[in-house]
Amino acid sequence: NVRVRFAPSPTGFFHIGSARTALFNWLYARHTGGTFILRIEDTDQARNSEAFLKLIYDSLTWLGMDWDEGPNPNGVGERGSYGPYRQSQRNDIYHRYKQQLLASGRAYEKDGAVWFKLLGERYKVFDDHRKKEVEKVKSAPVVIDDQIRGRVERQEDEDFVIFRSDGNPVFHFVNVVDDIEMKISHVIRGEDHLSNTSKHVRLYEGFGVAAPVFAHIPLILKSPEMGQGKMSKRDKGALIEEYQQRHFLPEALINYLSLLGWNPGDDREKMPIADIIKLFDLPGVNQSNAKFDGKKLANMNMVYLLEQPAEKFLALAKDFFANQPNGAAVMANEAYFREIMLLAQPKIKSVDELAAYTVYFFGDDFPVDDKVKAKVMAKGDPKSRLAELIAAVPAMDFSTDATIEAGLKALAESKGLGFGDYQAVARLAVTGTNAGPSITAIFRVLGKERVGARLQRLAA
Ligand code: GLU
Repeated sequence: NVRVRFAPSPTGFFHIGSARTALFNWLYARHTGGTFILRIEDTDQARNSEAFLKLIYDSLTWLGMDWDEGPNPNGVGERGSYGPYRQSQRNDIYHRYKQQLLASGRAYEKDGAVWFKLLGERYKVFDDHRKKEVEKVKSAPVVIDDQIRGRVERQEDEDFVIFRSDGNPVFHFVNVVDDIEMKISHVIRGEDHLSNTSKHVRLYEGFGVAAPVFAHIPLILKSPEMGQGKMSKRDKGALIEEYQQRHFLPEALINYLSLLGWNPGDDREKMPIADIIKLFDLPGVNQSNAKFDGKKLANMNMVYLLEQPAEKFLALAKDFFANQPNGAAVMANEAYFREIMLLAQPKIKSVDELAAYTVYFFGDDFPVDDKVKAKVMAKGDPKSRLAELIAAVPAMDFSTDATIEAGLKALAESKGLGFGDYQAVARLAVTGTNAGPSITAIFRVLGKERVGARLQRLAA
């Protein structure tokens, strides 16, 4: 009976690393038919905030990671019978467990704090670093049989605090007590916690309870262009909120996150969530660190956008433009909006690119890329090509992409040139840039008058 938990602290933004830890727990629960629990580790009163708590609920909900037990996002009531699921509401439980250790002799009070007592032979040494004599305990190493890291041995040789002198319990203590109380079977968390796990194992022994299975998942490193080392929440692209605001598809982000440290056993990358759930398992998680790659994430989003049915994509586009300053004007003509959005669908990496990508369809006052302009105007004889286009366009048949293409080819042929000699300058004139849908589609959608006027404007 698998019971796993995601145990965030509401002390900061919800970032890629948190989302990946949540996801691996969620996937494992769904893969095994187990229970996914959300526990809020909000014991740090100075750093907790309700806004960060809300961000946890919102991000998990947006990403589709539903929890079977835990607080209700609306703040009222809870799901599950092992609550409360916020540590700030579990003080009586922690005191009960503390009393148990004090009574059994596995904890003692010193300097106002409560300490966990290790078993083994005691001796004193002078600690050069702390510049004082400390008491050490000789005991066998703690063996952690980690599902991902394999066998890990760590030495615990000093008693440690479980309740501070201010009366507050420490992380190690509450984390273990809650995992016992909530009957957690598997602890799946970031590798940065591996160094805590030996203390946790000693605590389980102290309580006389079998430890859960541990699975420490690899760190997420920065991509090379971000620098070196572990990805932090300050890195660009680290916050889940950003992707939500940019209208990324949550299913694309989930697919990408699933590959940060895991693979399905072959080189498949794009997979429906049902397949990921079916294939995900702890032995499939890599030992080596994962590398964040914002470009790959954007490409994943692009692939998901591409396969959206037209109506779904239009709904996403409307959702986006509804919050743009010129949104109402852009959506005023439904058929026109639809045509342009569907031209853009296969070309954009995220929905928030739609505004810049389609700007020249919705007004003559669009930005011109100066670098592109300098380059295009420096190659061949663009002035003559413009003049030829201006002369030819009024007589061209603008009814379909094919008739426009035929018209442009006929013009080129008549001058002993190729279609390509006209393309860049025509595109610059009507769009201000060098990227976008095909020039024939742009001509057709804009119509003869606007195309003519824009060609003249560049020629002037
Ligand atoms: N509150 C801890 C964290 O956010 C949880 C660690 C754990 O999963 O055991 O890192």
